[in-house]
Amino acid sequence: MAIENQNIQAEDQSLDQALRPQSWAEYIGQEGIKKNLKILIQAATERGEPIEHILFYGPAGLGKTTLAYLVARELKAQIKVTSGPAIERVGDLASILTNLSPGDILFIDEAHRLNKLIEEILYPALESRSLDIVIGKGPSARTIQLELPPFTLIAATTRVALLSSPLRSRFSGGTFRLEFYTSDEIKKIIARSARILKVSVDDEAVDEIAKRARFTPRVANRLLKRARDFAQVEKSPRITNELAVNALQMLEIDAAGLETTDRMILNTIISKFGGGPVGISTLAAATSEEKEAIEEVYEPYLMQLGFLERTSRGRVVTARAYEHLGLKSKLDQDSLLV
Ligand code: ADP
Repeated sequence: MAIENQNIQAEDQSLDQALRPQSWAEYIGQEGIKKNLKILIQAATERGEPIEHILFYGPAGLGKTTLAYLVARELKAQIKVTSGPAIERVGDLASILTNLSPGDILFIDEAHRLNKLIEEILYPALESRSLDIVIGKGPSARTIQLELPPFTLIAATTRVALLSSPLRSRFSGGTFRLEFYTSDEIKKIIARSARILKVSVDDEAVDEIAKRARFTPRVANRLLKRARDFAQVEKSPRITNELAVNALQMLEIDAAGLETTDRMILNTIISKFGGGPVGISTLAAATSEEKEAIEEVYEPYLMQLGFLERTSRGRVVTARAYEHLGLKSKLDQDSLLV
């Protein structure tokens, strides 16, 4: 079973690679960001300099990594990829930085998980391309300074507020916030992915998948792949609306794109905390979900739908969410008592 899971994961990863846009034209949406990046790239290329450091932020699966690869491709630059938690020690960062070639792009995903010590060594590396390393301990300790080649850092994060402000201020090329996609954009992404996967999908099925894709390309692709599996098992040459609906129902994704955990979070706030407000730590304990997962994965979409609000006193479920879950809202219940 474990091996089977690994195979599925490996297949999913190679499919992800295949579906990843390779040019600006293939990268659908986020028009403002694309425009800015193109100018940044053109200006730097004309000057013969590397572009300045860039930060992308926004919920997972919206295309931050893809943008970093596109920028590298456009600049014909090499890209080295790592992530915040992977850089544990100063030595890890030193080895990454000293192995860069002039013009390289260093992509650090999950930048909010860089530890503070690493961040502090990163500042001079970003600003003056120098790396200060302390060798030895106590009175015999000394600092050596290494000069680094010109390079560009592209960092990505789902939690921009957790980046320290000195680090945030180092992204002189720009800080770009990726937005959720419109449903038209998601439909285009599904249609493009279907062409790459060589699977025919009826228009209604595209609509149905788009509706439940959390306005997120990665989710849209995942749902399309599951619908494709379903069609294959049913020996259908195309993904019809009925097949898509059945596949989505089997995945327990409802008409608003909510998955089991989203509903469980809303139901917990309603049943245990009278609809809120409830603090994030209390909610995490009551749902047995990681606080980070609630904040990074579930909450952004629930807020985007207007099902959840963040107030200074905690999270509150909205009347719209009660309606979606088929429950009477607290306001309605209160008014019955008057
Ligand atoms: P993030 O780094 O923000 O988590 P990724 O860049 O890994 O997101 O994108 C997830 C997947 O979604 C990619 O494999 C890619 O196929 C698809 N994708 C992301 N953005 C777009 C887009 N604008 N157009 C088409 N496909 C996209």
